[in-house]
Amino acid sequence: MKVHEYQAKEFLRKYGIPTPNGKVTDQISEVKSIADELGGKVVVKAQVLAGGRGKAGGVKLAKSSDEAVEVAKNILGKKLYTHQTGPEGVEVKKILIEEAANIEKEFYVGIVLDRAAEKYIFMVSPFGGMEIEEVAKEHPDALFKVYVDYLELFPFQARQLAFNLGLTGDAFKQAVKLFLKLFKLHVELDASLTEINPLILTKEGNIIALDAKINFDDNALYRHKDIAELKDDSEEDKLEVEAHKYNLNYVKLEGSVGCMVNGAGLAMATMDIIKYYGGMPANFLDVGGGASVETVRNAFKILLEDKNVKVVLINIFGGIVRCDRIAEGVVKAASEVGVDRPVVIRLVGTNQEEGREILKNAPFKFYTFETMSEAAEKAVELSKGGN
Ligand code: GDP
Ligand code: MN
Repeated sequence: MKVHEYQAKEFLRKYGIPTPNGKVTDQISEVKSIADELGGKVVVKAQVLAGGRGKAGGVKLAKSSDEAVEVAKNILGKKLYTHQTGPEGVEVKKILIEEAANIEKEFYVGIVLDRAAEKYIFMVSPFGGMEIEEVAKEHPDALFKVYVDYLELFPFQARQLAFNLGLTGDAFKQAVKLFLKLFKLHVELDASLTEINPLILTKEGNIIALDAKINFDDNALYRHKDIAELKDDSEEDKLEVEAHKYNLNYVKLEGSVGCMVNGAGLAMATMDIIKYYGGMPANFLDVGGGASVETVRNAFKILLEDKNVKVVLINIFGGIVRCDRIAEGVVKAASEVGVDRPVVIRLVGTNQEEGREILKNAPFKFYTFETMSEAAEKAVELSKGGN
């Protein structure tokens, strides 16, 4: 789960990490007084979950509070198109107004889990402000990594990090303290990514987090109710958000064969076999081992809402759930939602004969098969316009 920059910075402050003074707003009428309070020279920053705001014009400096109002008018309520939003863009609903910093140097700082090494990695680079992917590609030697074996960063490791950024004196000490606090935050809040890009050294000699990004581990949100409440679905895929509400395990993909399968393993195998026959799955969808009529209906609705879906492939093994119940669910869903695209069904297991009978007598034409390969082959053919 992602949170906005201004929210991430509140967490940093709770852990004693310095950030610029600032205030978030969704009202143009408040911009002037906020900017005046901050001394006039401010930076106006679009609060969207997508990265790369600076390059897209979502981060702008203003020399006076009047200029801040002008700048804010061009950002707030407007759409921002960053490399992460694509051509649809994202509407800016809030802006963060911050005291402008006098930047001497920008650094990259990030903490992630290295699954292969089974350790956290704490990364720093003197190429701040650049995206980490770019740094890793263009300046791999300037990316310094510390692997953390425990749930704690040791002071000597924090000193190695600060040393590798070329910091000395008081700035060095400030950075060491900051790294220790940041790692503590990452572990205690169950973050999956904590990034400060850029961390800056100001002309006054202070180390400050100028930007902040924290992604939280969804599986740990149950123990952070306060964080879970910050969830903002507005920039996420609409179908995935809806599927989540219905408790469906759904991941949207790029292809044209919409799949409804019970069991994650069978769902993976179904995607594989679609590819084997030259097609592309439009999604991963596991309706669960004990799928009810209700679940089947919701899943069906979600599949048909995806305009890329040219054909629906239902692959159900009736183990816990009986095939006649699934067939009933499919027919019911089809009558409610309407079916404007071909539906291929492979039903096997408990009460399969009864299930197939129900499908045969339904007022819709379903393509029913007994084997997975026949069903997948047909679905792929139909997805390419065959019949
Ligand atoms: P991002 O593009 O979404 O990552 O947004 P950032 O918050 O990282 O801002 C992008 C860039 O804007 C930074 O790398 C800085 O170079 C610049 N910037 C942001 N805030 C300030 C500021 O207060 N003063 C100055 N001079 N530049 C800033
Ligand atoms: Mn940034």
